[in-house]
Amino acid sequence: MENKFNAILAKQKVFFDSNKTKEIGYRQAQLSKLLNILKDNEIQLSEALYKDFKKSAFETYETELAILYHEIKLAIRKLSKWSKTKRVCNGLSNFPGKSFIKPEPFGNILVIGAWNYPYQLSVLPAVSALAAGNTVIIKPSELSLNASNALAKIINENFDAQILHVIEGGIEETTELLKHPFDSIFYTGSTAVGKIVMRAASNNLTPVTLELGGKSPAIIENDANLKMAARRIVWGKFLNGGQTCVAPDYLLVDQRVKEVLLQEIKAQIKTIHGENPKNSEAFTRIINGRHFQRLIKLIDKQQISIGGETNEHELYIAPTVLENISFEDEVMQEEIFGPILPIITYTNLDWAIAQIKARPKPLALYLFTNSKKVEKKVLHEISFGGGAINDVIMHLANSSLPFGGVGHSGMGNYHGKYGFDTFSHFKSIVKKTNWFEPWFKYPPYTKWKLKLISKILG
Ligand code: NAD
Repeated sequence: MENKFNAILAKQKVFFDSNKTKEIGYRQAQLSKLLNILKDNEIQLSEALYKDFKKSAFETYETELAILYHEIKLAIRKLSKWSKTKRVCNGLSNFPGKSFIKPEPFGNILVIGAWNYPYQLSVLPAVSALAAGNTVIIKPSELSLNASNALAKIINENFDAQILHVIEGGIEETTELLKHPFDSIFYTGSTAVGKIVMRAASNNLTPVTLELGGKSPAIIENDANLKMAARRIVWGKFLNGGQTCVAPDYLLVDQRVKEVLLQEIKAQIKTIHGENPKNSEAFTRIINGRHFQRLIKLIDKQQISIGGETNEHELYIAPTVLENISFEDEVMQEEIFGPILPIITYTNLDWAIAQIKARPKPLALYLFTNSKKVEKKVLHEISFGGGAINDVIMHLANSSLPFGGVGHSGMGNYHGKYGFDTFSHFKSIVKKTNWFEPWFKYPPYTKWKLKLISKILG
C-alpha cells in the first residue's frame, strides 16, 4: 500500500514540477474533461448513491451533480481572471518600482471526503484545486462504498494519475496517506477526525482546510412567517435523511409560537413525504447500522411529538420531532446527523443567544424573523460559519459566498473564487528600477538622516 501511494505521489510531484499545470488552457481542459465524464456517467453515479442509502436521483442531481456542474463551469470561465497577477499600491518605501501579487498553486493536494454528499464533498474541492493549478489525490469516504467505487472508476479510467487520482479506503489508508508530505490537505468530516488530520499534517507543516460539523441551531422568533419557516425547515432538516452538515440540528423557538409551528411542521412533513414517509421515494435512509443504533438512542419516547417510527432492517427512521427538550438532554450533547429534530423553547431571546454562545461555534445558524432589529442583533452577537435569514442550507448554493466553519466547525473555506484562493499561494513581489536609490537608508546613520527618514515615512 505504502509503495503504491509513494509511486502515485512521486508521479504527481514530477508532473507538477514540469510546470504543465501552470498553463491556464491545460487546467481548463482538465476541468472540461471532468465535467464531461460526470455528465456521461450521471446514471451510474446516481444508482450508486441509491444503493448506498436510497438517495433519490432527484436529490443526487440537485444536491451533488448540479452544484458540481455549476462550479466547474464557473471555474473554467473565471480561472484566467482569478490567476492574474494583481498590481497593488507600491508605497513610498519602495519608490521607484512596482508591487504585485502572483497567485501560484501549492503543488500536490490531498482531499479527504465525507460520505453524506460523497460526490460534491470530494469533487468540489478537487475542482478548486485543479483550477488553481494543483495535482489532486481524492480519498472518498468508505461508508458510501458504492459512490466511492463509482467515483474511483470514472476518474481513474479517464485521468492520468499524475494530475488527478482517487485512492479508496478507510482509516488505514487515510492514516497512511496522511504521512505523506502533501502541500495542502482538505478534509471534510467530523470534528474528532479533523483533529487527527491536523495533528498528522503538522508533522510535515502541511496547511489544512477543515470542513467540520457541529450543532447548527435555527432560531424561530414569534414574528416569523411560521408556515414558510416550517416548509423550509422540514425540507432542509430531512433532506438526505437529516445527514447534512448544515441541516438545522435543533430549533430554538419562542415559546409563544411553538404549538403553531409544531402543527405547521406536522403538515409540511405530510405534504412533502406523505402519510407514511417510509414509502416516500424522496426520503433517504440512514447510512449504516452503527449510525442507526446511535440515532435511535437519541429518541426518548416521552419526548416524541411527531414521527418516532423506526425499522432497523431498512435503516429507516421517520422524520421525528422531539419536544420538551433541554440543553442537558442526550440529544443535545452531540451533532445529531439524522432525521431527529429537537425543539427547545425560550421566553427571552438573550437567553437563547447566550446558550448558543456558551457552546462551540456552529457551522451554520438560521434565523426566522421579520424584524431587522433582531436580525442585526443575532448577526452581530453570535459567531458561526454561515447561514440564512428566513431559510436553511441555501447559503451553500451561492458560489459567491465562502463556505466554511469557524472554531470547532472548521477552518478555511471554499466555493467559487474562495476555493481557488484556498489552493493558491499568493506570492508578493516588489520590482525595483535602477535609476534611483535612497542613499539615506544606508549606514552610517546620522541625526540628519533620521530626521529625513521620519519626514518621509512618518
Ligand atoms: P468522518 O470524520 O467519520 O470521516 C470523514 C473521512 O475521514 C472519511 O474519508 C474517513 O475515511 C476518514 N477517517 C475516518 N476516521 C479516520 C481516522 N481515525 N483517521 C484518518 N481518517 C479517518 O466523518 P463522516 O462521518 O464521513 O461525516 C460526518 C461529519 O462530517 C459530520 O460531523 C458532519 O457535520 C461533517 N460534515 C461537514 C461538512 C462540511 O462541509 N463542513 C460536510 C459534510 C459532513
